[in-house]
Amino acid sequence: MVNECYIPSSLEEALDIRKNTGARPLAGGSDLMVAYKRGVGITPVFPFPILLISQLYELKGISVQRDGTVVIGALSTSSEIAADERVPYLVRKAASLMGAVSLRNTATIGGNIGNSSPKGDLPQPLILLDARVVLQSSTGKREMKVDDFIIGAKKNYLRDDELIVAVKIPRPDYTYCYYRKIGTRKANAISKLSLSALMKVEDGIIRDFRASSGAAGPKVRRSRDVENIIIGKSLEELPDLIDSVLDGWNSIISPHAMPEYRRSATRRMLGHFLEECAKAPEAGIIE
Ligand SMILES: Cc1cc2nc3c(=O)[nH]c(=O)nc-3n(C[C@H](O)[C@H](O)[C@H](O)COP(=O)(O)OP(=O)(O)OC[C@H]3O[C@@H](n4cnc5c(N)ncnc54)[C@H](O)[C@@H]3O)c2cc1C
Repeated sequence: MVNECYIPSSLEEALDIRKNTGARPLAGGSDLMVAYKRGVGITPVFPFPILLISQLYELKGISVQRDGTVVIGALSTSSEIAADERVPYLVRKAASLMGAVSLRNTATIGGNIGNSSPKGDLPQPLILLDARVVLQSSTGKREMKVDDFIIGAKKNYLRDDELIVAVKIPRPDYTYCYYRKIGTRKANAISKLSLSALMKVEDGIIRDFRASSGAAGPKVRRSRDVENIIIGKSLEELPDLIDSVLDGWNSIISPHAMPEYRRSATRRMLGHFLEECAKAPEAGIIE
């Protein structure tokens, strides 16, 4: 069997091929090659035409807009994202903990979002930060929040004629932030569980609080209702509200495997972040 494979030399050509053939994009291939592997040293056979996109310069690079929004090209690898200090800390940190070095040099942000796995590491902080995905077809561009783009496990709103071309992250505004990933082992560990959180405090009042859980349900979870339990309250009131937040959080996650472990570990991580914030430490990263 031979793979039908297209190698466009420009984004325009890639979008035309996508429209006319529905060929599936292959960026780093670290999900697709594994999903269709046939054995060591044997080339995978895909049951659909392949559109190789890794050579498209239009999808590469990281830049910052005037308002501070960071724009990450879809082909940016986890290594490039982790090394770029302009990228918000939570996304850099998540990128730096993905798999081993070889994987990080291959895995792209477009592929991580395109794969839409609940265990994918990048959607989790991206959803926390209200990041948007930029989608392009030969007829134009559209943008969606990553949270709206990903429907559930391996399901998203990518149309057959579209490519993910970039991800836009608004400049975050917080006093404290937190990122934790629990994996099986350091090298090449897919998340068993991950949590991001941030809090903005002004004059002792909590102006913003967000949390997002990865690998604790069919998609990354955030809840405005739970966040609103403490937004507008003072740091002094926070200790008495932590249990309500944790109970609320427990009700919105739905881990299917090892649910008890995932629920208690999530509770511990989020509880730790909130308890540390209540101590009103210096602004920065909560470890
Ligand atoms: C050993 C190993 C360890 C791993 N560890 C981790 C980990 O720790 N954390 C983690 O999150 N993931 C991990 N992964 C999964 C994988 O590496 C990531 O999901 C990676 O980001 C996928 O990117 P890619 O470019 O290789 O995607 P590809 O395999 O090329 O594509 C993945 C999917 O996205 C689509 N796609 C790719 N680019 C685009 C685009 N621009 N527009 C539209 N659709 C697109 C493809 O059609 C496909 O459906 C691991 C994988 C392996 C094999």
